[in-house]
Amino acid sequence: MIVGIDLGTTNSLVAVFQDGESRIIQNRLGERLTPSVVAVDEKGEVLIGRSAKEYSAIHPERSASVFKRFMGSEKEYQLGNHKFKSEDLSALILKSLKEDAEHFLGCEVEEAVISVPAYFDDDRRKATKLAGQLAGLKVERIISEPTAAAITYGLYDKSQSTRFLVFDLGGGTFDVSILELFDTILEVRAVAGDNYLGGEDFTAVIEDAILEKLELDKEKLDSKTLSLIYEAAEEMKLRLSDEAEATVKVPVGDEDKEFTMTSHEFEEACEPLLEKLRAPLQRSIADAHVRVSDIDEVVLVGGATRMPLIRNFIAKLFKKFPDTSVNPDEAIALGAAIQAAMKERNKEVKEVILTDVCGFTLGTEVTVDRYDGGQEAGHFSPIIERNTVIPASRTERYYTARDNQDKVTINVYQGESRMVHNNLLLGELTVDVPAGPKGQEAVDVTFTYDINAILEVEVKVVSTGEMKSKIFKGRYNQMTDEEIEARMKELAYLKLGPRDQEENKLLLVRAERAYEECIGGDRTLIAQCVQAFEEALDSRDREKILDTRRALVEAINQTKW
Ligand code: AMP
Repeated sequence: MIVGIDLGTTNSLVAVFQDGESRIIQNRLGERLTPSVVAVDEKGEVLIGRSAKEYSAIHPERSASVFKRFMGSEKEYQLGNHKFKSEDLSALILKSLKEDAEHFLGCEVEEAVISVPAYFDDDRRKATKLAGQLAGLKVERIISEPTAAAITYGLYDKSQSTRFLVFDLGGGTFDVSILELFDTILEVRAVAGDNYLGGEDFTAVIEDAILEKLELDKEKLDSKTLSLIYEAAEEMKLRLSDEAEATVKVPVGDEDKEFTMTSHEFEEACEPLLEKLRAPLQRSIADAHVRVSDIDEVVLVGGATRMPLIRNFIAKLFKKFPDTSVNPDEAIALGAAIQAAMKERNKEVKEVILTDVCGFTLGTEVTVDRYDGGQEAGHFSPIIERNTVIPASRTERYYTARDNQDKVTINVYQGESRMVHNNLLLGELTVDVPAGPKGQEAVDVTFTYDINAILEVEVKVVSTGEMKSKIFKGRYNQMTDEEIEARMKELAYLKLGPRDQEENKLLLVRAERAYEECIGGDRTLIAQCVQAFEEALDSRDREKILDTRRALVEAINQTKW
C-alpha cells in the first residue's frame, strides 16, 4: 500500500486513495492534522504531534518544531540526551503517520509519496527521501506541493489547457507557484515565495495590538504571560475568520483583561503584510512570462488562506474569486495520495505527467570587457535560468578572453548573483584550445539538468571538435545503506509512546502545564489528581483509569487550562 504524506512545516498529514477517492487518515487522537513537533521527555520517551506541542510550551529545551526549514542542513537539535538532524525529526513524524495509516488500513504501509516545496533543491529532496527511509518507508517519488494541490483540485482533469496559480500561505511560509496544464502534462512554470512570512505574522499583528491597547511593555513581561497573550491573539485571529468582531480574555498578572477587535480593524492592521505578499506574486508571474489576466484559476493551500482578508486580497488582485472547494490544510496530502494511486497504476485515476522546474540558476564564470578597455573576471553567465522546466538542456558559446590562451576552464556555479563569488561553486571542467588571438577560439558549453537534479556539463571546442563532459551531483552527502541501517537502529531505540496511550499522555502533559501555571489550592488539587491517575494507569484497572481521568480533566478545567 502506498500512502501520500504532506510533511509540513507546522502540521503533517497522511492520506490514502481508496474506493475512488482520496481521504485523510486520522491520527491516534482522532485528529486530521498532526503538528510537526517532536519532544523527548525526562524519561526519554518521544512525544510527537499534539502532545509534543503542548509539552514544548513548558519544556522548549526538550522540543523541536519548524525543522523542515533546515532539512538537508547540518543543523543539530539537542533534545534531552539526544542529538537530531532535521531528517531524524522528520523520520519520527513520518513513523508516527505510518503507524496511524497502518492502524487505519489494517495492513503494512511500505511506501509513501511525500510532498516537498517546489523550491526545495536536490539536497533537501534527498534529505526528505532519507527521512522516509529512516522511518521504514520506501520513497521513490517526491511530489512538489503545488503540483499535489493542483491534482487535488482536479486541475489535471480539465479538458482544455489551463494556467493556474497555487497560493500557499502556511504558518510560517508563503509559496506561490504557477502551473500549466497542457494535454496530460502538468508543468510547474514558476515558483517564488517568502520563507519568513506566514499565518504567524498575522497573529503577531494582533499580539502587538493587544500590547498597545493594554499598555503593556513586551520587554517587561515574563515568557509565560507573553505566551498566554500570543495564544489569545491566535484565538482571536481564528475567530475573526468567521466573525465580524471578537473579544478575547487576556490574562495579565492576577486579572483577566478583555480585548476586542473588528475584522475591519484587523484587515487595516495587516496592510503591510498584504504588501509583502505582493512581491513573490509579481516575481512568479514575471518568471512564468504571463500576465495576471492569463491566470485562469487561483487555488488556496495552507491554513492561513482561511482568513477572509486573504481571500479578498486575491479576489481584488486577480479579479476572480479563488477556488475554495477543498480544505486548504488538506489539499497537498490528498494530492500526494492521488499521486500514489497513479504510481500504483490505479485504474480510477487518470495518469498525468508531472514536470518540475529548476529552482535556481545554473551557469558559468566569465571575464567581461570593461568600458574603460580593461577586463574583469568573476562575472556570472547564466545558462539554465531559474524556473526553467526540467529536464532541460541549453548551450551557450564562449570565446577566448586573452591572446595565446590555450586552455578554457568552465567553473560551474549555482545562484542568482551577478558576481560568482556570491554564488555556489559546484565544480570545474577544463579543455585545451589551440592558442591564437583573443576571441578566435570558441567553446560550446551545454548544461543538461534532469528531474533527478543531476547536472551534466559538456564542453566542445568548436575548431577541433574535442569534447569533455562531467556529471555534477548535488552536494548532499548521501548516507550509505549501512549508515542508514545504523541510524534507523538508533532511532528505533527511541520509543514512540504506544498508540492507545496517546490521549493519556496528552492529558498528563496538559496537567503538568496547568500545574506550572497555577498556584495554591489549584496546584495541590492537580498534583493529587495526577498522582491518582498515574497510579490507576499503572494498575491497568479500566474503571479506575476512567474515574481518575475524569477527575483530572475536571481539575484542569477548573484552572485556566
Ligand atoms: P498550515 O501550516 O498550513 O497548517 O497553516 C497554519 C496556519 O494557518 C497557522 O498560522 C494558523 O493560525 C492558520 N490558520 C488555520 N486556520 C485558520 C483560520 N480559520 N483562520 C485564520 N488562520 C488560520
